[in-house]
Amino acid sequence: MSAGALDRQWRERADAVIPGGMYGHQSTRLLPDSYPQFFSRAKGARLWDADGRPLLDFMCAYGPNLMGYGDEEIDSAFVDQLRRGDTLTGPTPLMVELAERFVRLVGHADWAMFCKNGGDATQMALMVARAHTRRKTIIIARGAYHGANPWCQTRTAGVTPGDKAYQILCDYNDVSSLEAAAEQAGDDLAAIFAAPLKHDAFVDQALPDPAYAQKARDICDRTGALLVVDDVRAGLRVARDCSWATVGVSPDLSSWGKCFANGHPISALLGSDKARKAASAIYATGSFWFQAAPMAAALATLNRVETSTYLEDMMSLGEHLRSGLAERAEAHGLGIRQSGPVTMPLVLFEDDPDLRLGFAWCSQMLSRGIYLHPWHNMFLCAAMTETDISSALDAADQSFRAVKQDPRSTEVNSKLSFLLA
Ligand code: PMP
Repeated sequence: MSAGALDRQWRERADAVIPGGMYGHQSTRLLPDSYPQFFSRAKGARLWDADGRPLLDFMCAYGPNLMGYGDEEIDSAFVDQLRRGDTLTGPTPLMVELAERFVRLVGHADWAMFCKNGGDATQMALMVARAHTRRKTIIIARGAYHGANPWCQTRTAGVTPGDKAYQILCDYNDVSSLEAAAEQAGDDLAAIFAAPLKHDAFVDQALPDPAYAQKARDICDRTGALLVVDDVRAGLRVARDCSWATVGVSPDLSSWGKCFANGHPISALLGSDKARKAASAIYATGSFWFQAAPMAAALATLNRVETSTYLEDMMSLGEHLRSGLAERAEAHGLGIRQSGPVTMPLVLFEDDPDLRLGFAWCSQMLSRGIYLHPWHNMFLCAAMTETDISSALDAADQSFRAVKQDPRSTEVNSKLSFLLA
């Protein structure tokens, strides 16, 4: 199966006017050939590709879709505010209400600052920590993603060693490597950046070990450095609080983005009183950071977060999906590993170093109308239903069978040869 005719046409046109045809995480360069690059619309848990094929979407826009695409109530709040005024000469009072809402919702937060993308929030966290401590060095877990800014991105093109100066890497959930990194930082430690869970691409996810989270807290308390939890991806899919509330550890700063306005563009840095002075000292701004319409959408989304069972519902769907996939893979004699929170599933195949089986299975699923990802964690949204999960499991059954029956037909994907190198 290949991408549709219209998608192919759009790709050709894109190749002429968009560098590389597409860039960043939205590029399908590292996805099976059958995956569409362009989409035309979305509603609830479904999106339609440029050729008009409906797909049950387990990527949720890489996170922003939390309550369902095109949620009537949230989008009405957005549109009503858009009509009243959006990007203005200054913010509307919605900004204060939204900050108050976050302070009420998130245990460690005494204040909030708003920006656009997750990377803006992690960048601000970095500046606040350095301003607070007047130190430079930060500890980051190897392989963790904190955005596309030069200091934290994993590619090398256009990035200088200077951009990545004053960083020490540790291994996630490895207490002794965290201690060694802190030792190496000596008296220059400004911050420990922590992913709320290990959700790196291509490898199994891992929930935070409470001992690791506590060690990060202890090191920061001992040295005066700030603890930052980057909740841009996992926020509101693990807890109605900072995700490390689940292991009883409060950070000084947390970065948020993606889903808290259900797809409307806004992100946030939240902080405790300890970091308030430094947060008011840094210069951080952007032309669109004060847009009122996404703030209205965020308030409507957070209302739903506080008053509905969206999280429990997503968890029960996620458990159904996980146990159903495990049963069906086993029935076909295929080994799969499922990791991470059930609301952010990742499925990798055993003995699949070049992801050939994963690619084949995802291609099969796509041909049955289910959009999965072979190597990045996926996302559930609250618009999914038990019927959706059951239909995904039926498709999974057929797709496992197809992969099992004819493993030679699996796509040998030259795109992934770098994994073997
Ligand atoms: N932090 C994490 C954990 C993320 O997953 C992402 C985006 N995938 C970012 C930061 C950056 O967010 P954005 O792409 O909105 O800048």
